[in-house]
Amino acid sequence: MSAQLINGKEISQQRLEWVAQKAAERREAGLHTPCLAVVLVGNDPASAVYVRNKKIACEKVGFKSLSYELPAETSQDELLKLVDELNANSEVDGILVQLPLPPQINSQDVLERILPHKDVDGFHPYNVGRLAVKMPLMRPCTPKGVMTLLEAYGVDPKGKKAVIVGASNIVGRPQALEMLLARATVTVCHSATQNLADEVAAADIVVVGVGIPNFVKGEWIKPGAVVIDVGINRLENGKLCGDVEFDVAKERAAMITPVPGGVGPMTIATLLENTLHAAALHDKV
Ligand code: NAP
Repeated sequence: MSAQLINGKEISQQRLEWVAQKAAERREAGLHTPCLAVVLVGNDPASAVYVRNKKIACEKVGFKSLSYELPAETSQDELLKLVDELNANSEVDGILVQLPLPPQINSQDVLERILPHKDVDGFHPYNVGRLAVKMPLMRPCTPKGVMTLLEAYGVDPKGKKAVIVGASNIVGRPQALEMLLARATVTVCHSATQNLADEVAAADIVVVGVGIPNFVKGEWIKPGAVVIDVGINRLENGKLCGDVEFDVAKERAAMITPVPGGVGPMTIATLLENTLHAAALHDKV
């Protein structure tokens, strides 16, 4: 039997409508318009597309967006100076520095310079730490978006075995913390994991973020599992595909996200939710 498709486009649209409604309520209440500052360094085409989509999404929900496009040879000091200015700018609620950054810049130094309450990506160690101690403030967008999708489809991770394949700072690690917060029993797999197929085969919920097309084989999936594919890979024919062997996995899973149209759209919707949250924190300052 074929799995139910988890429609990230539809759920992200609902979330964006909710954010737009909240932005309208803020205007009616005389509160300031949420404002996201987006910083792009260099001319990576994929990053340029992500940044453009983030700006378009801001306009759609009635947020302000400020855009900073810096040349590839920008020094770390120059970028840190801009972050300091945005931290001090009372109009700005959220700051997003698009990754990856050019090699002369240490990304972690830049992410740590953003004030935690303006860190709408949720990558500052303060925010990661808060998630780890069950007191989330700004939650990384992609893992939080995954949790929103699960909730929308009535999947409660409590008591389930969740297996995360990939342990990066932006996907796997915070996803594991989100699952733990939701009371799942969590296993995190990475490139040193042995018997990956057995780990995946034990999962009630499997979340994959590795960056290798069709890496998780469909036959590894436990019948009836929920499969969340975070991977976005562009094939030689120009098409996008995920990290899970979709055609086989969908015949075993109960629910599965497609790529594109699964997790991807949720990341931007969650970024705007975080910006709204940052604006609410700002109101209290
Ligand atoms: P990354 O930083 O390269 O991390 C990849 C992770 O996969 C690492 O933890 C790595 O393990 C693990 N891995 C690599 N080879 C493995 C193997 N043979 N067995 C098990 N684990 C292995 O990548 P990322 O930034 O997390 O991105 C992962 C994917 O998600 C990419 O396709 C990216 O485009 C996509 N993505 C999508 C969204 C979205 O909005 N949908 C957002 C972010 C990323 P080690 O830790 O041992 O190196």
